[in-house]
Amino acid sequence: MSALPPGAVIGMLGSGQLGRMTALAAAPLGLEVHVFAPSAGPATQVTSRFTQAAYDDEEALARFADAVDVVTYEFENVPARTAEVLAARVPVRPGPHALATCQHRAREKGFLRDLGVPTAPWWPVATVDELAAALEALGGQGVLKTAELGYDGKGQVRVATGDDPQAVWTRLVGAVPRRDLVLEGFVHFEREASVVVARGLDGAVAPYDLVENEHRDHILHRTTAPADVSAAVASEAAALATRIIVALDYVGVLGVELFLAGDALFVNELAPRPHNSGHWTQDGAVTCQFEQHARAVAGLPLGSPARRGRTVMTNLLGDDVDAVPALLAEPGAHLHLYGKAEARPGRKMGHVNRVTPG
Ligand code: AMP
Repeated sequence: MSALPPGAVIGMLGSGQLGRMTALAAAPLGLEVHVFAPSAGPATQVTSRFTQAAYDDEEALARFADAVDVVTYEFENVPARTAEVLAARVPVRPGPHALATCQHRAREKGFLRDLGVPTAPWWPVATVDELAAALEALGGQGVLKTAELGYDGKGQVRVATGDDPQAVWTRLVGAVPRRDLVLEGFVHFEREASVVVARGLDGAVAPYDLVENEHRDHILHRTTAPADVSAAVASEAAALATRIIVALDYVGVLGVELFLAGDALFVNELAPRPHNSGHWTQDGAVTCQFEQHARAVAGLPLGSPARRGRTVMTNLLGDDVDAVPALLAEPGAHLHLYGKAEARPGRKMGHVNRVTPG
C-alpha cells in the first residue's frame, strides 16, 4: 500500500496524551484518528471516532480494523495477540515484530547486543536460582527490572552482589516462582539523554537532535534540546538511533533512551512510539514528532527534523497545573495540556515548551 490520501483514518490503540497529540497533528494532513481503548481518555476528547472495548475483544478488533486504513499505538504494552489479530486485516505500524522486541527488556537487550549497540551489562533471569547466579556474576551494583510492563522507574529495584536473592526476588515480584526479569549492571552515567528518530515507509530515516533529560522521582521533569555535547557525540547518537530503527524495520517514531558517561553512550531502552522527550519538537522543530509519526504510518514523506531554536520542555505533573495562568501570561511559553480532570500527584497533566533563538 502506498501513501494514504486525505480523509484516510489512522487507528490508534490507546487513549492517552500521546494519541491526543498525534490526532491533533494528523488533522492538518487531512488524516483522522480512530481510537481503540478500554476507556475514554485525553485522545478521545479530540477525536470523533472511538471504539471502547478491551484489547482482547477480537470481534471489536476486527470491526475496528475494517474501519481504519492503518493501525498504530501510543503505548507499548499492547498485547502481542492484539497486534497479530489486527495485522491479519490491516497494516500495523510499527509492525508486531518491532513491538514485541521493544516491549520485553530481554528481547530488546538481545537485539541491541546482536546489533553491537552498547548497553549496560545484563543477565536474563527467570527464577530465584538464576537471580543468585546473576548477582554473583554482576560483581557490584545493579538494577533488577521486570522484563515487561515497567515504566517511569516502576518494576525495578536497586541491588548489589551479596544481597539475598530470595529477599530481592520477593521485593520485586512477590511470591510468584517464575517471572522474566533482567539484571543490569549499574551505569555510572553523568547525564541522561535521548534521540527521537523516525523512519518512513520508503525507508527514509530522520533523527531529531540528541536531547538531555532530567528526571525527578523517576519521571521526566525537563528536556533540553539540543543536549550540550560535542558534535562527535551528537552524530554518534544519531548514527546509533539510525542503525536501531533500520534494523527493526520500523515505520513510525521511536524513542531511544541513552546514558551519557563521558563521551560514551549506552542505550537504556527503546520506546516504540512518540516519546515524552520529543515533546519539544511541537514548538522547536520544523516537523513535530506527532506529525512525523502520522506521516510515517500513513506512508507520506517524512518532514524535516531540523530545530527552529533551542527548546526547554518542562512537564507539568499533578499540582504543577496550578501555574497555568502564570504560564499563559508568560511571553513565548507554549502550553500543551492533556485535558485530564484530576491532578493526582505525579500524573502527567501537560507540558510547556520555551523556545529561544539559536
Ligand atoms: P528505565 O525504566 O529502564 O527507563 O529506568 C528508569 C531510570 O532508572 C533511568 O532513567 C535511570 O535513571 C535509572 N536506571 C535504569 N537502569 C539503570 C542502570 N542500568 N544504571 C543506572 N541507572 C539506571
